[in-house]
Amino acid sequence: MCKFCKTNPVITLTNSNISLCSSCFIKYFEKKVFRTIRKFKLLDKGDTIVVGVSGGKDSLTILNILAKLAETKRDLKIKAVLIDEGIKNYRSITIKDAQKFCKEKKIQLYIYSFKKEFGYTLDEMVKKLKLNPCIICGILRRYLLNKKSRLLGAKKLATGHHLDDEAQSILMNQFKNNLELSARLGPITGVARFKNFIPRIKPLYLLTEKETATYAFLKKFNHKYVECPYSQDCFRNDIRDFLNDFENNYPGSKHGLIFSFLSVLPLLKEKYKEEKVRYCKSCKEPCAKEICNACEIIKKLK
Ligand code: SF4
Ligand SMILES: [Zn+2]
Ligand SMILES: [Zn+2]
Repeated sequence: MCKFCKTNPVITLTNSNISLCSSCFIKYFEKKVFRTIRKFKLLDKGDTIVVGVSGGKDSLTILNILAKLAETKRDLKIKAVLIDEGIKNYRSITIKDAQKFCKEKKIQLYIYSFKKEFGYTLDEMVKKLKLNPCIICGILRRYLLNKKSRLLGAKKLATGHHLDDEAQSILMNQFKNNLELSARLGPITGVARFKNFIPRIKPLYLLTEKETATYAFLKKFNHKYVECPYSQDCFRNDIRDFLNDFENNYPGSKHGLIFSFLSVLPLLKEKYKEEKVRYCKSCKEPCAKEICNACEIIKKLK
């Protein structure tokens, strides 16, 4: 029974024993996102926010909630950017969902493709470079998202990363002994603010994957569920399965991981604040080395 209105429940919340019906869950979910935005001061007055969308459930969820917020906060401007990596039988399907959604909500959607920007689709790059697809994809997508959102006048770039994504990243960095990468996590990413670097915000930071998927399902954002064909091979997938098993056996573990991480995050940020950002000699985008990872990949393709 729904805790509030005693009708049929659609979900039992991950971190408590509370069951909610469809309409009470949607209210709970949206309120929690708004509270997360306030708690971590993710938005400022007059912000232009570019939302990185893939057309999948997480990104359409955050786009929907921010668009809803923009209806009441007239000084908040929302635009959407989609990066088409060129993954056969996958991205073309989610692009349609994103286009349909943005058309209905009257949100400007800008689409940039790997093919047009770099000369090759991800599928072609994987064949040519024989590198892990997720590494190429992640580097080039982050690169384009930062560059394009800056050109669109963004003050911040919002992503659909939820609590499960963050818990996975924390654990992955821990297992790889890479705390410097963890210092860049959190509800607002980036150790410091650098010229040309658009800070990233994660308004779904305290919402789980199960909650986000339920919200997207109830709102009917996607006409069918598709999975990236490369997702099976990645380290993240194994960590996700591990965390899900652990959560099933010991409920509350993911929340425990996130909140303990949040309490040490200021120390991590302090420890790694000396990190110098340079500007890539080739493309002038912010990066940590002389030549950025994106330019390294592009060089290998030629
Ligand atoms: S699973 Fe890997 S290749 Fe597929 S979209 Fe995600 S990062 Fe890119
Ligand atoms: Zn209810
Ligand atoms: Zn570069």
